[in-house]
Amino acid sequence: METNLKLVDVVVEMLDARIPRASSNPMLIKMIGNKPKVIALNKTDMADKEKTALWLENLKAKSFAVVQVDCAKGKGVKQLIGAIQKAAEPVTAKWLKRGVHNRPIRVMIVGVPNVGKSTLINRLVGRRTAMTQDKPGVTRGPQWITIAKGLELLDTPGVLWPKFEDQEVGLFLALTGAIREEIFDKSIVTELLIKKLQKEYPQVLSSKYGADIEQEDAINTVYEKIAKARGCLKAGGIADVDKVVNMVLRDFKSGKLGAFTLDKPPDKK
Ligand code: GDP
Repeated sequence: METNLKLVDVVVEMLDARIPRASSNPMLIKMIGNKPKVIALNKTDMADKEKTALWLENLKAKSFAVVQVDCAKGKGVKQLIGAIQKAAEPVTAKWLKRGVHNRPIRVMIVGVPNVGKSTLINRLVGRRTAMTQDKPGVTRGPQWITIAKGLELLDTPGVLWPKFEDQEVGLFLALTGAIREEIFDKSIVTELLIKKLQKEYPQVLSSKYGADIEQEDAINTVYEKIAKARGCLKAGGIADVDKVVNMVLRDFKSGKLGAFTLDKPPDKK
């Protein structure tokens, strides 16, 4: 990826709007130096709108521009192209001074696994993807696809391997599919999710599962209440915690629980 980064003029870093902090890689800034960076905040359909607004404000300070996108539905893609073109203006101006005309601006998309990079590339490229073909025996170099006048996109995204020192970041990445869930014990991931929901979205679990869950309930109490309300019981009426864990995780991942932002937006200065 670092080799490809050298070839581009503008970098698009894609972040997951549910975890803008955990899905960003602090090493990227070192890799791109002073190349303009545009942030695409994706999966906004699955995130908390109010918190997304706060994150947008915060991230603006750290990049050339931030654009809210929902690549599943194709929302915000036009605005993203506009932001990339704007970010490239100083680069083009520099070239013009040196007498370089008509050189296309080259851009690449980077981000952690599963954030939506390929979906965005398909949105940007549309049907033209069919043009790239795999010929056996021919090593394929980087392929550039024109996505707007004077704007070329690298057809393969840069995968940023998540880097995390604190466990919470790792657990958030597991919850959103950026790292394999099996890396952590499912019950640890679910416990963190439930604690976050109890704190930030106190009504959600009660209304979703029809259980009277209090904000201060301990994790085992929450499991027991959900198990009872949903009939996740083992012989003898004992709560089937594994079943509850799997259900809560599934409901969160599919969006059935609702739209949440797990990373707290930093306080305004
Ligand atoms: P990549 O690993 O970064 O290339 O991620 P993909 O493009 O393969 O997307 C991973 C998953 O996220 C796929 O199931 C996509 O359909 C889904 N996805 C991508 N963008 C969005 C979005 O904006 N909203 C939602 N809800 N899902 C999305």
